[in-house]
Amino acid sequence: MTGIGPGMGGPDLIIAHLYPDLLRTYGDRGNLITLVRRAEWRGFSVRVVGVTRDERIPARANLVLIGGGSDRLQAIVGPDLVARRPELEELTAHDAVIFGICGGYQLLGDFYVAADGRSMPGLGMLDITTGPGKGRIIGRVRAQATLYGDTFECVGFENHGGRTLLRTSSATPLASVPHGQGNNGADGTEGAVQGNVVGTYLHGPVLPATPAFADALLRRALAPRTKGAPLEPLNDRLEEEAHALARTLRR
Ligand code: GLN
Repeated sequence: MTGIGPGMGGPDLIIAHLYPDLLRTYGDRGNLITLVRRAEWRGFSVRVVGVTRDERIPARANLVLIGGGSDRLQAIVGPDLVARRPELEELTAHDAVIFGICGGYQLLGDFYVAADGRSMPGLGMLDITTGPGKGRIIGRVRAQATLYGDTFECVGFENHGGRTLLRTSSATPLASVPHGQGNNGADGTEGAVQGNVVGTYLHGPVLPATPAFADALLRRALAPRTKGAPLEPLNDRLEEEAHALARTLRR
């Protein structure tokens, strides 16, 4: 790899994986593996740091991953996560990307009211709110996404009771979906993006079979090293096969 040095002696990319012991529904860890491999295949050095309750996120982290989980697990991690707001704001001020899935996505918002009516404060880093609805939204999803100038189709699986509303135009939808799916089953939106904070309901995991999604996140997270230069293309034959297969699956 030319033109991209390790700079200041540290790894090119530090990924903080929050609560790997608790938030890990439906293969969310596969997102981490995809991000690591796609960066390494391009010659970047990567360090992964698992961070659970009461542990610090490395000050130079470039990408923070938060997986999904049940209401019970969200209530367990919630207070610890909310207390991290200054830490996380400091990171995004230095161009780090925060990526949350389902339960993690909900907790990036202002609050989450769980199925039993219990209200949990969120980080307030995405201008969204989530409350209960009638029944759960469960099933395979094909979503048309736009992220940081790239457009692509995401394939994933969703299972959530929470209905998410984007409150203002500060948060824009990540994707559009058919009625009955996505953020709330009603407005055809899926996920949200606000600057360097990105959330989605898609498990699966979503990134291995949607490599363009992984690359959009990586390009943004690596920007301090690459100045936002395009990432080298990879041979995505297997990923494309997985994507094509996933889009044929029904429930
Ligand atoms: N507990 C949340 C809900 O049901 C999130 C679930 C998840 O992460 N799959 O809405």
